[in-house]
Amino acid sequence: KCGLVAIVGRPNVGKSTLMNHILEQKISITSKKPQTTRHRILGIHTEANEQVIYVDTPGLHKEEKRAINKLMNRAASSALGDVEVVLFVIEAMKWYEDDEMVLSKIKRSKKPVMLLVNKVDEIKDKETLMPFLQKIAALHDFAEIIPISAEKGTNIEPIKEKVRDYL
Ligand code: GDP
Ligand code: MG
Repeated sequence: KCGLVAIVGRPNVGKSTLMNHILEQKISITSKKPQTTRHRILGIHTEANEQVIYVDTPGLHKEEKRAINKLMNRAASSALGDVEVVLFVIEAMKWYEDDEMVLSKIKRSKKPVMLLVNKVDEIKDKETLMPFLQKIAALHDFAEIIPISAEKGTNIEPIKEKVRDYL
């Protein structure tokens, strides 16, 4: 089994951190500063009888005034073209216009989407997570919704498991 998986989301949600955890190596640069990832980064995850190529995209964003932003949007959008499944990363308890914009691009691609709600380690009141997830779940027919912490490595294994279903 093999296939291509795109990791998309607005800048700073933790895409590169997730990529590094999935691949168990520091392949993509992560940083507090948005737009650290300026090109597509490919990482190959190999197991006994499968190979998955993960594509870490530059964050998609609305601001298209600067040429570099335009270029990054193009790189991120084109990554959606030919994948088996999209990993759409957002931050727990946050839903911005940029998230909305990324989701609308993903919808146009018609690919199955797994919603990864990252940074759950930062939630102070855990009871607020469920209502938040329900609100986001109503926005699209997500294939899966998985709360994760890319930094702490929480719930990363289930992502790999579910990805397998789309290969
Ligand atoms: P990207 O722009 O989407 O690739 O985001 P990065 O992976 O570069 O991460 C942006 C910032 O969020 C960095 O400071 C990361 O350390 C931080 N971050 C990523 N994942 C998590 C997480 O699960 N929990 C917390 N608290 N911070 C995270
Ligand atoms: Mg990045």
